[in-house]
Amino acid sequence: MVAALTSKELRSALEKWHVPATFTSGWSTRSAYKSGWSDVTGCMYHHTANDASDSANRALITNGYSGLPGPLANFGVTDTGRIDVIAVGPANHAGGGDSRVLDAVRQESYGARPPDPRYTHSEAVARGEPIGNRMFYGWESYYGAGGDKIPEPLQHRVTILSMAAIIDALDRKDTKNTWSAKSMIGHKEWQRGKIDPLAVVMAAARAELQWCLDNGPDAAYNWYKTGEQGDDMADIDAIATAVAKKVLNSKLIKIIGKDPAEYMSLNTAARVTYDRVVNRIPAQLAGQDAKLAEMAAILSELSGKPVAAGDIQSRIDAAGERAAATCLEELRATPDPEVENDEG
Ligand SMILES: [Zn+2]
Repeated sequence: MVAALTSKELRSALEKWHVPATFTSGWSTRSAYKSGWSDVTGCMYHHTANDASDSANRALITNGYSGLPGPLANFGVTDTGRIDVIAVGPANHAGGGDSRVLDAVRQESYGARPPDPRYTHSEAVARGEPIGNRMFYGWESYYGAGGDKIPEPLQHRVTILSMAAIIDALDRKDTKNTWSAKSMIGHKEWQRGKIDPLAVVMAAARAELQWCLDNGPDAAYNWYKTGEQGDDMADIDAIATAVAKKVLNSKLIKIIGKDPAEYMSLNTAARVTYDRVVNRIPAQLAGQDAKLAEMAAILSELSGKPVAAGDIQSRIDAAGERAAATCLEELRATPDPEVENDEG
């Protein structure tokens, strides 16, 4: 927990990370709470669940609607991969959650996913569970319904890039705690019954976010533009993460690929995610052998002993199997789309 970012700190964080951003009129004083922030804990990823234009979405997030006043998020995210900066102050986006999730995020003590949330918004309110609005920065990405069910690649990547900017700024400000990608959760991980962000596997999104934090603003911005994490990774951890991610994706294919019924058992949103993974595979496999040879050379040099690419492959395979099982479980748990509401 740390004090919230001032408008000056927020603007320079986005600038430092080269985030394409539009600062909306009034953003630097806008807030849904006169009392301001309380116990700033992390970042939350949402979708708006409508098919409307970016400008209509921006107006909705800024002003709110009958029954729920704006701002409804700190940041809007356009289809073209830009951030609308809506509010420096807390917004009505998270609603009631789960103290068990809150603790796991604060301590960053969870593995691939925080514990499943136990309560709906109204159950959480009735039980006195935490309300997340003043604890989490909120991103509303403009997709999630009709013909706009999945985020555009640039739209997703600018979300992650801007989250890296905010987490980096909070980390620098917080003298007591270290902030990582585990400070970021999806709305579906906070409140039972929520499905957003649709078609985003949160463990994979956190891996992308951590890669950005580990590699810094220039590499992260290049990834935002190209989707490529590049060959200029600074250390062996980053190389291992990149290779493990490739294997994870290919293992996911093998697990589902063994049985077409497994694929058909997934709902539409989960299948969309799966298809997107499949489309990325050929390029990833092509780079894998070269990457393993590179890792083997680096490890041999560091350890002073010969290390074979095959040894690395078998250890990554084991890690990949575990990670793929987690991903598959998350895909299966993705409910069908429904309209977002009750986030006050
Ligand atoms: Zn939401």
